[in-house]
Amino acid sequence: MRLLVTGGAGYIGSVTTAVLLAAGHDVTVLDDLSTGHRDAVPPGAGFVEGDVADAGLVLAAERHDGVLHFAARSLVADSVADPAEYWHVNVGGTLALLDAVRKHDVPRFVFSSTAAVYGEPATTPIPETAETRPTNPYGASKLAVDHLLTSYANAYGLAAVSLRYFNVAGAYAGLGERHVRETHLIPIVLQVAEGVREHIQVNGTDWPTHDGTCVRDYLHIADLARAHVLALDAAAPGRHEICNLGNGVGFSVLEVVETARLVTGHPIPAVEAPRRPGDPAVLVASADRARNLLGWKPEHPDLARIIADAWALTAP
Ligand code: UDP
Repeated sequence: MRLLVTGGAGYIGSVTTAVLLAAGHDVTVLDDLSTGHRDAVPPGAGFVEGDVADAGLVLAAERHDGVLHFAARSLVADSVADPAEYWHVNVGGTLALLDAVRKHDVPRFVFSSTAAVYGEPATTPIPETAETRPTNPYGASKLAVDHLLTSYANAYGLAAVSLRYFNVAGAYAGLGERHVRETHLIPIVLQVAEGVREHIQVNGTDWPTHDGTCVRDYLHIADLARAHVLALDAAAPGRHEICNLGNGVGFSVLEVVETARLVTGHPIPAVEAPRRPGDPAVLVASADRARNLLGWKPEHPDLARIIADAWALTAP
């Protein structure tokens, strides 16, 4: 298929581009490089530097079979402090992109959604049928797009798939997390092992979990990327499918730090810090729907392996 990948210079978008190319697809990346890196775009892909609102120019030039939409703002705490950008970029940007998708008759749309749409879930693991009550504007902006896609699929025949990512980590094809301002747990823990930071701050030790720290479901980036390739095949006209992507197993912040100590051989000092605004206590996926609908199964569910793959790229 000929595909447009927005945000393909970012962590998840670049790895997915590499996996799409390996599966034989033609890929053009559209990225404004606001948080991504030009050198992360795999060499086999075309590259256009621009905003998602410019997607019409790319889609007008050639017929495309699908758009995979990764470009977004994605930091929970930032979205609480400054929500306007989250609504403008994540919802306004996607709306402009969908206008271009309709205008140029692109049949398929795969969207990067998030477990943050569920908020503080009533049950765990979380199925897609769980209530969606986001605890921060980031999750709310992604949920708004999920609603948009349902109506576009129903009314305009779009074949849409939302993939609700839990916590993605690890590295693939030499591509790992490289945020200018890093906020994610595993890269920060590895920065301590690397000697870039002195310690890890544990955001809250009084959460209602077994050791008082937040529990998350960490998924290998290669497994996540592969789900997108499968989603393109599973997408059906007039339907909006929603699938969680996770391993179905949760690890606390302290367990992640301990596993990273084993992987790196570094003591990784941890200090207690206040809770981070907008964080839910526990997010663990039920990914049965992805298994049934996409035929997807994680191949690298082991947390130590996920951390080791990220460490292999960053180790001094
Ligand atoms: N976290 C932490 N210290 C850090 C970074 C993150 O304790 O330096 C916690 C964070 O509060 C959350 C978990 O680690 O409970 C995972 O956070 P991350 O930002 O990696 O992903 P998120 O769950 O926000 O998507």
